[in-house]
Amino acid sequence: MSSVSNSPHSLFSNYARFDLSFTHGQGCFVYDKDGKSYLDFVSGIAVNALGHSHPALVKAICEQAQEMLHCSNLYRIPLQESLADRLVSLSGLDAALFCNSGAEVNEAAIKLVRKYFFDQDSTRRTIITAEKSFHGRTLATLTATGQDKVKHGFAPLPKGFNHVTLNDLSALEAAIDSDTAAIMLEPLQAEGGVHECTADYLVAVRALCDKHGLLLIFDEIQTGIARCGEWFAYEIYDVKPDILTLAKGLGGGVPIGALLASTDVAKSFNAGTHGSTFGGNPLSCRAALTVLDTIVNENILANVQERSEQLKAGLLVLQNKYTCITQVRGLGLLIGCALNRPTLDIIYPCQAAGLLLVGAGANVLRFLPPLIVSAAEIEQGLAILDNVLGELD
Ligand SMILES: *Cc1c(COP(=O)(O)O)cnc(C)c1O
Repeated sequence: MSSVSNSPHSLFSNYARFDLSFTHGQGCFVYDKDGKSYLDFVSGIAVNALGHSHPALVKAICEQAQEMLHCSNLYRIPLQESLADRLVSLSGLDAALFCNSGAEVNEAAIKLVRKYFFDQDSTRRTIITAEKSFHGRTLATLTATGQDKVKHGFAPLPKGFNHVTLNDLSALEAAIDSDTAAIMLEPLQAEGGVHECTADYLVAVRALCDKHGLLLIFDEIQTGIARCGEWFAYEIYDVKPDILTLAKGLGGGVPIGALLASTDVAKSFNAGTHGSTFGGNPLSCRAALTVLDTIVNENILANVQERSEQLKAGLLVLQNKYTCITQVRGLGLLIGCALNRPTLDIIYPCQAAGLLLVGAGANVLRFLPPLIVSAAEIEQGLAILDNVLGELD
C-alpha cells in the first residue's frame, strides 16, 4: 500500500505526495514501472480532459513543436486569435486573454476588476467571494480563497476581499457596500468539497450585480470546458458572468488559462496594462484548439452527461449499501461523495486495487474521470470502490 512520502530529496516539501509514480498513461489508465495499471479518476485534478496520450492531442502537439513552440506577444499569433474566437463564440463573452495557470488567470481577473472601476473614476474595489471557495495560491488569489488554511503564515495579505456563506442571499446582500466591485464564485465549488450553488442563488446574484453595477466573475477553472456536461457550468443555470476564468482542462495537459470578459470590461486592459511572456503561446493554443475540436468531434458533452448519470446512480447504490457514504453530489464528471470518515481510508486501498481518487474539502471523495471515460470504465471504478468499501465496513 502506498503512503505519503517523506523521503528526503532535492524538492521542496510543499506537497504531501503519495509514494506512487507513473511511467505513462493511455486513455483513462496510467501505468507504473512494474506495469501495474490504475484507472485514473483524478485526471491530474481535472486537467487530462481527453485522458492520457489522446492521438489527436499528441499529433497536434508534435506537429506544432515542429512548426513553432513559442512566439512573443510582441507579434500577432494566429493560433491565439483562433482560440479566442472559439472561446468567445462558446461563452457568449466578447474577448479573451491567455495566461498559464488558474491562479494566474484569476489574478488577472482581480486586476481587471480594479482597473475597470478605476477607469470609471469609481472607488469600488472590493471583491466578495464565498466561504470554502478556492481561487489559487498567489497572494491575491489565496486572499480571495474562502479558506483560512491557505492563508496561514502569508500575511500581510492584499486588501479588498470579503467572504460570505454560499447560497445565503441575505448574507450577500448585507455584505454589499459602496466599496463592493465584484462577486466571484465557482458555480460548483470543487476543491472546497463539491458544493453546488443553487440555481435560485445564482439567478439572484446576477440580479444583485445588475442592480448595484457590480461585475460577476465565474471561476470555472475546474468546472469549465465540458467538465460539468456543458461547455461551462453556468449554462446549466442560464446565468452569464461578466468575467469568466478557465484553465485546468482547457489544454488537456498543456498549461494554459483563459480570461474572458465582455467588451466593456475587457477594454480596461489597454496596451501595457497586463501581460504574460508565455501566455497564449502557439503550443498551448494549438493544444487547446485540439481539445475543443475533440470535444465536438467525439460528442464528449453527451458522454459526460451519460457517464455522470451512470456514476451518480452507481454511487447512490453504494450509499445505500455502506453507511460511510453520507451524500452523493456534483455535476457532470465532477462528483463528490461525502463520507463520515477520512477520505484517505478509501483513497489508499483504492490505489492498491488500481483506482486513483482524490479528496476535496473535509471528508469528501472526489471523482474526476477523463471526459472520454467509457461506460465499462465507470463500472470498473465502481466495482473497485464497492470491494474496498466492503472490506472496510
Ligand atoms: C485549480 C483551481 C484554481 C487554481 O489553478 P492553478 O492552475 O492551480 O493555479 C483556481 N480556481 C479553481 C476553481 C480551481 O479548481
